[in-house]
Amino acid sequence: TYVVTDNCRGCRYTECVTVCPVECFHVDDTMTYIDPENCIDCGGCAPACPVGAIEPDYRLAADKKYWIDVNRKRATETPVISARLPALPGADERRQALGR
Ligand code: SF4
Repeated sequence: TYVVTDNCRGCRYTECVTVCPVECFHVDDTMTYIDPENCIDCGGCAPACPVGAIEPDYRLAADKKYWIDVNRKRATETPVISARLPALPGADERRQALGR
């Protein structure tokens, strides 16, 4: 399954939502999460993310593996997002700070 990680937090561009064929994405006030029960591993969302926040679980660095559990848990607690939202305030500055 694919996993949303910390680069999304505070940016939340939501480009991912427009490419996902199966409505995996959930959202809260800070970021998106992928429901691992729905993800079909198509890989479309990872290159669509402007801040490189999305990776397949097997490619996550050791210090980012905890995002697998965060996505699984938060996807059960948050609503599905099926259309783009505006990026969060400060997202462009944050993206630049990330070197993207
Ligand atoms: Fe959706 Fe494909 Fe990304 Fe899974 S890998 S969340 S199915 S776009």
